[in-house]
Amino acid sequence: MSAAETVTAWLGETRPLLIDGDWVAAADGATLDTIDPATGGRLGTFASAGTADLDRAVAAARRAFEGAEWRALAPNARAKLLWKLADLIEDNVEELARLESLDNGKPVTHAHYYDVPAAADAFRYYAGWVTKIEGKTTTISMPGEYHAYTRREPAGVAGLIVPWNFPLLMAAWKLAPALAAGCTCVLKPSEQTPLTALRLGELIVEAGFPRGVVNILPGEGSIAGAALAAHEGIDKIAFTGSTRVGKQILAAAGGNLKKVTLELGGKAPTIILDDADLDKAIAGAAAGIFANAGQVCVSGTRLLAPRSIFDRVVEGVAAIAGGMKVGPGTDTATEMGPLVSQRHFDTVSNYVASGLAEGASLAAGGQRHGESGYFHQPTILVDAADHMRIYREEIFGPVLVAQPVDDIEEIARKANDTTYGLAASIWTRDVSKAHRLAARVQAGIVWVNCWGASDMAMPFGGYKQSGWGRESGFEGVENYLQTKAVTVAL
Ligand code: NAP
Ligand code: MG
Repeated sequence: MSAAETVTAWLGETRPLLIDGDWVAAADGATLDTIDPATGGRLGTFASAGTADLDRAVAAARRAFEGAEWRALAPNARAKLLWKLADLIEDNVEELARLESLDNGKPVTHAHYYDVPAAADAFRYYAGWVTKIEGKTTTISMPGEYHAYTRREPAGVAGLIVPWNFPLLMAAWKLAPALAAGCTCVLKPSEQTPLTALRLGELIVEAGFPRGVVNILPGEGSIAGAALAAHEGIDKIAFTGSTRVGKQILAAAGGNLKKVTLELGGKAPTIILDDADLDKAIAGAAAGIFANAGQVCVSGTRLLAPRSIFDRVVEGVAAIAGGMKVGPGTDTATEMGPLVSQRHFDTVSNYVASGLAEGASLAAGGQRHGESGYFHQPTILVDAADHMRIYREEIFGPVLVAQPVDDIEEIARKANDTTYGLAASIWTRDVSKAHRLAARVQAGIVWVNCWGASDMAMPFGGYKQSGWGRESGFEGVENYLQTKAVTVAL
């Protein structure tokens, strides 16, 4: 069977929840449909988890955490499981890429060359860390003779809540370090894009992870997500999504003082200086805002460029916008797919309308694309003032707001004039200016002469209201570890 036929057959059945190694219906029989954003039609149906299902999954994860099968597994055996899962993801790249494209809308070529291999890479990268989690021995100063050391132990049962923009990759970014640390997991994918997480669950079972180590429960955010964040049986919660929900998670986690990491929104500046390689900078600025239809937390949404080059830069990005092939993700010629949902399409359209009503003007796009589905044209707004919602709030769509600036002081001030602090990209040939600006920008991630270059070895996360903690790198595993100090009187 071709990947397309396999996917069609798989979608022909209601997809169940993964609890304690079994595929089961929701306790109350609830189901939800997931929508194909290219058509607005039903794509598939899945069991929707409620609080009773969450309780069962958390209990299963606790049993698995305390059971010998997982706890006593040698680090190299745990690493092997993660590596095997990476292999299985790669073996199924065609099918996973097609599912991701159908469910989220993104170009299947992007899912095939980025999302799916990057998910495999996350499991492989963290497979490497499992055998390198180490405590320290310390010579202490207390009178007497002691042997003192630390142990790095798993945080316990981890609740993982992931969004719809990179459904498989965000699941991998959380599962891989959590499992590397020795945690057990309850994963809640977005109800809008549950499919690749459920398929990943099948591969987790196939790889041979013990029962209950990974439980996968799509369901409504306000029900299953909220219940997970508040659950007394969860020790640690890791969340990627909006800053608004991030704050709700934090409040809900207070009941049992769960450890919390948050990867939230952004309003990243793309800064192009007058000495930049303009062709590369213009292409980078366009990629930074139109990749994944602008539904990326690190999207470069605010373009800042000196007046001397401003018109040329805007015209260049507008030319790319005008030439982009917008269409269904499953068409291999598509460069930009639809937005994820009708609701999100309305949000993005309302932002554009609010900007125009407040006095901004269009340099490209601004309209719905086509007659059906949730397609929005790649859009550029100019003449925007700093107080406008389009300049201050995260739009999460293919909408660039471009502003001319006078000098580097104004660039630095404007770059930091936001409640967010996730990412920034700087385009210049001047090494000194690049490093100085990189140091001044209040953001967790700075790209110079590139955008979106994210590697598992580099920490990923935000300053200010863009989040708490870092994913990727060893910091990613540390999110799921706790330290025990052992002092032995000799
Ligand atoms: P969201 O509501 O924050 O959703 C993210 C995840 O949280 C989803 O799994 C969602 O489940 C779940 N969730 C929703 N309400 C919850 C609650 N009360 N308690 C626990 N979990 C909850 O994001 P969205 O509404 O889908 O998107 C809106 C905005 O979020 C975007 O415009 C963008 O600004 C931001 N966003 C950021 C990222 C990022 O990468 N940082 C990713 C996606 C969205 P359901 O989807 O099933 O409701
Ligand atoms: Mg969908």
